[in-house]
Amino acid sequence: MQKALELKQLRKTYEGGFEAVKGIDLTVEAGDFFALLGPNGAGKSTTIGLISSLITKTSGEIEVFGHNTDTETEAAKRCIGLVPQEFNFNSFEPALEILIHQAGFYGIHRHEARERAEHCLDMLDLQDKRKTVPMKLSGGMKRRLMIARAMVHAPRLLILDEPTAGVDIEIRRATWDLLQKLNEAGTTIILTTHYLEEAESLCRNVAIIDHGEIVERGQVSDLLSKAMAETFVFDLQQHAVKKLQLSAYKINQYSESRLEVEVPRGQSLNALFAELQTFGVEVLSMRNKTNRLEEFFLRLVARGKQRAAHA
Ligand code: ADP
Repeated sequence: MQKALELKQLRKTYEGGFEAVKGIDLTVEAGDFFALLGPNGAGKSTTIGLISSLITKTSGEIEVFGHNTDTETEAAKRCIGLVPQEFNFNSFEPALEILIHQAGFYGIHRHEARERAEHCLDMLDLQDKRKTVPMKLSGGMKRRLMIARAMVHAPRLLILDEPTAGVDIEIRRATWDLLQKLNEAGTTIILTTHYLEEAESLCRNVAIIDHGEIVERGQVSDLLSKAMAETFVFDLQQHAVKKLQLSAYKINQYSESRLEVEVPRGQSLNALFAELQTFGVEVLSMRNKTNRLEEFFLRLVARGKQRAAHA
């Protein structure tokens, strides 16, 4: 499988020594729908700024579809369509002109640029707004125009920074549908988000970033089930049975003196103790092992609740 993106020990230290990105290694396969999930300030925008060559890296390597951003900067940039968080249109330029000009930045001849711009207007359902200036467009239309502009040079990788932050549920769903269609049509998509639900509904793979570091990565479904479980560590009396099988629990680690079991969050431990007893396993002590992923998800959920309470 071809790699759409490869980051090796990517690092960004801002003036004053603040490390926003602390040596990230990351691979995204071609065709993937990938979420970089993390709370505000985690380093998501910095990471995509580095990938898109908008921010200068402190060290590390970036390859976009095999093009190194240091040695093949233009080729790497051509593979990327970037949708920034904030609208940054020229407010006096009609939609069609915005797209034609954008194609011009990539050296696409005006005739072809017009064809591509028309194609993007069709794709994003903006044909009847071709002569409209951004300030006369609704929020949802502006968002579609941002995506159209990012797609006008037919990039293989579309990167979106918080595509649905602060938008209403209707626009969010419409954006999700649109992104799904683009992905099905072959565009690799990477988006940043601080909405767990967005990563869960949309993406196949996810990397979780916190304090400038990737704390977990994998398939969205695997990570969610892992985060929704608690791990308990049992210290056992030395003569534990050789092979232990527990019906409803996942054993992460087992030795003569130690057992680590995953228990779905909120599930009673009584049945687990009963099973251990049938095996004659004597528990000396037990503790809850919080992992970084759990801590992270709990923080995200707490933030979500705080936001909902203030809404
Ligand atoms: P996110 O996109 O996940 O919200 P950012 O990548 O924007 O996070 O920021 C990561 C950290 O880097 C934050 O603590 C932010 O304050 C800091 N930061 C971002 N830009 C700059 C800058 N130009 N100078 C100094 N610090 C910055």
